[in-house]
Amino acid sequence: MTLLRVSEPQEERAHRLEREFQAVLDAAVDAVVLFDHEGRIELLNHAGERMFGYNEQEVIGLKVHILLPEPYRSQHEDYLRHYIEIGEPRIIGIGRELLAKRRDGSEFYAELAVGRVQGTDPPRFVGFIRDVTIRRNAEEALRRSEAQLTIAQEIANLGNYVVHFEGHVEDYWSPHLYRVLGRRFGEPYIGVYDYLAPMVHTADRARWQQAREELDSGARSMDIEYRIHHPDSSLRYVHHIAHTTLNAEGRVLRQVGTIHDITDRRRAEDEARQMQDRIAHFGRISTMGEMAAGIAHEVNQPLTAIATYAQACQRLIGAGGFSHEEIGEALEHISAQALRAGEVIRRLRTFVKNREVKRELIEANRLLEDVLTLAQTDARHNGVHMSLETATEAPQVQADAVQIQQVILNLVRNSIDAMQNVPEPRREIVLRTYIDAEGDVEFMVADRGVGLDPSTVAEVFNPFFTTKPGGTGLGLSISRSIIRAHGGKLWCSPNPGGGARFFFTLPAITSTGSPQ
Ligand code: ADP
Repeated sequence: MTLLRVSEPQEERAHRLEREFQAVLDAAVDAVVLFDHEGRIELLNHAGERMFGYNEQEVIGLKVHILLPEPYRSQHEDYLRHYIEIGEPRIIGIGRELLAKRRDGSEFYAELAVGRVQGTDPPRFVGFIRDVTIRRNAEEALRRSEAQLTIAQEIANLGNYVVHFEGHVEDYWSPHLYRVLGRRFGEPYIGVYDYLAPMVHTADRARWQQAREELDSGARSMDIEYRIHHPDSSLRYVHHIAHTTLNAEGRVLRQVGTIHDITDRRRAEDEARQMQDRIAHFGRISTMGEMAAGIAHEVNQPLTAIATYAQACQRLIGAGGFSHEEIGEALEHISAQALRAGEVIRRLRTFVKNREVKRELIEANRLLEDVLTLAQTDARHNGVHMSLETATEAPQVQADAVQIQQVILNLVRNSIDAMQNVPEPRREIVLRTYIDAEGDVEFMVADRGVGLDPSTVAEVFNPFFTTKPGGTGLGLSISRSIIRAHGGKLWCSPNPGGGARFFFTLPAITSTGSPQ
């Protein structure tokens, strides 16, 4: 645009320029303020009137710094004086952000640029002021949500990333991703996958590689757990989820992913498993009574065989004309059977070793809650939902906690087994405690599994009775002997809605601390 028209008389041109200048001022979105070398306002445009809440007439002749709060007010005066004395443009011409002040005293963030009007002496100045409240608020909100996201990621120990497949855009690493992958924030750039590849544990690498290749060749998502070695060579477990966005031609445009450090959860699960093993161990040793019958039977067999071979030898010797081979063979059998009997006895001894029963006062509900925690992983793997209905009276029992937990755990495992073939939504176990009519604490484990066949109900508590291919048939018989030893009873009945219900009682504790 040019304002110059060649044939126009001087005066007309001046008028026209004035009008056009006024139009520019009126249409401007920014506030425009003209002031002299002493900072006295000569003009404030419409936008300025709206922005500051003044009428132009009221401010003409007033100092421009009325538009600024302290400390900007004094600073501005200094700047102006400095400029006039030294001619150095401290703020002149430079856009900077400061607080501005409205007539009603309220303040807002503004961007200020000041320029000197060419050819004026003493100098006159024009200032442009832009209200940046909305931008500042948006920036502030963004900063806050980024900070919150970072905190959330720190709490969850999770990082996220974005990988771009078109153009030359660097991968995005969230600040906490550095920590999850063992780097310091701000270390030199490297692509997420390039960085990860050599860290993946060798045993998991093929699986990781395959998941990655599937994702790159158009799979919409990947969801995988694996182990990585941090640069300090510590081993971490991560859960990695990634999603792909394709472009219109079906090519991979970008991938976004999260990498979650699940080492602590994994360790807790390992500990829970070890605890289960310990409970199972205690269970084994507490079965001594029940096992004795089975083991006596097993020992009896080789003893009978030994006696038979010995008698055969006697007969051969008595009859004369025996061969050395015949006697040798019989003696070999005797020796093998004796070793077998010895082995059975050795097993029995390891079985009863370290037997230690500890009775203490414990809360019945606590026993169920602990088992719920212990069995949760097992249940989840099998698509089983477990719920707890605990007695509100919080009754106490005098018991060996580990043994009772072993009983409950065994009932829960049986329930999980019984629901293998029922549809997943039905796979539900209810654990319950309540006080029965006698005032004893009654525990219940109910499921919606295959249920109990009337012909087998009577047998399920017999040692070695099992309907499972790998079953021992000892769980329920051990459980019954444990409960009896505690002065309670264990029984079962069909669940009215299908499935089975197992119950056991433990004597309640009176206020004096002894069983009723
Ligand atoms: P195991 O589990 O090794 O077979 P148990 O003594 O725990 O030994 O159980 C004996 C049998 O009782 C099981 O094989 C099964 O036939 C039956 N049983 C136990 N619990 C349940 C249940 N919740 N639902 C149906 N049948 C069960």
